[in-house]
Amino acid sequence: MGLKFCSLSSGSNGNCLYIETDRMRILIDGGLSGKRIEKLLSHIGICPTSINSILVTHEHIDHVRGVGVLSRKHDIPIYANEKTWISMKNIIGEIKEKNIKLIETNKYFQLGDIDILPFSTFHDAADPLGFCINYKKIKTSITTDTGWVNDNMKEIIKGSSLYFIEANHDVKMLKEGRYPWHLKKRILSTRGHLSNIDSGRVLSEVLTGDGEIVILAHLSEENNKPSIAYETVKESIEEHGIKVNRDLDLNLAHRGRPTKIFTLG
Ligand SMILES: [Zn+2]
Ligand SMILES: [Zn+2]
Repeated sequence: MGLKFCSLSSGSNGNCLYIETDRMRILIDGGLSGKRIEKLLSHIGICPTSINSILVTHEHIDHVRGVGVLSRKHDIPIYANEKTWISMKNIIGEIKEKNIKLIETNKYFQLGDIDILPFSTFHDAADPLGFCINYKKIKTSITTDTGWVNDNMKEIIKGSSLYFIEANHDVKMLKEGRYPWHLKKRILSTRGHLSNIDSGRVLSEVLTGDGEIVILAHLSEENNKPSIAYETVKESIEEHGIKVNRDLDLNLAHRGRPTKIFTLG
């Protein structure tokens, strides 16, 4: 069986990804209420009791809101690095000792039949992570909540069959929008969020056009539009001779509702 991938919800009101292999059913982040995540899982036919791990990228509320509740209710282990554990302890509440799992930044670890590389991102959190998920010969990368993507990160995510990558804002919409200056500055900084244009540039450097799946994620409600994100990234990729919908499959993750289930391999 291949790997199944579904974004249950993506954006500042709550992030949650579902990944399934032969032996594993994992969530990456749980940034909505426990109830809401259970509901979203039921929409794709998954029983929350069958989830066997939760991985956390960083401690921001839109990534951890329901993590503690789900762990307590369904006895699910949570995987995060030390600084994230320290920062989210008070947010997610008491977790059973046996369900507190420590991972190390930039060091591979194994979860059942999956090999995972948690890699550093650039974001205003304690020790934020992206994840590279390796299952059989399939590689999937998750790169959200990062102000920029450096060469090292590009090297790590290169060769993915599925890229889940942030296209947070349109720079012009953000600059001209009604956000206060300090917030604009935060988002635009190298420890904020990736813009559509930057997302497109990164993708055009790593994609080969051999049928990859790309999912644009964490779109801002205020400073972006799905059509603008899609078109900006499409244009950037196509400048490099790769044709969207012929050489690769370009998609958007939605806020508050699941994408289709992508099956790889
Ligand atoms: Zn976020
Ligand atoms: Zn964040």
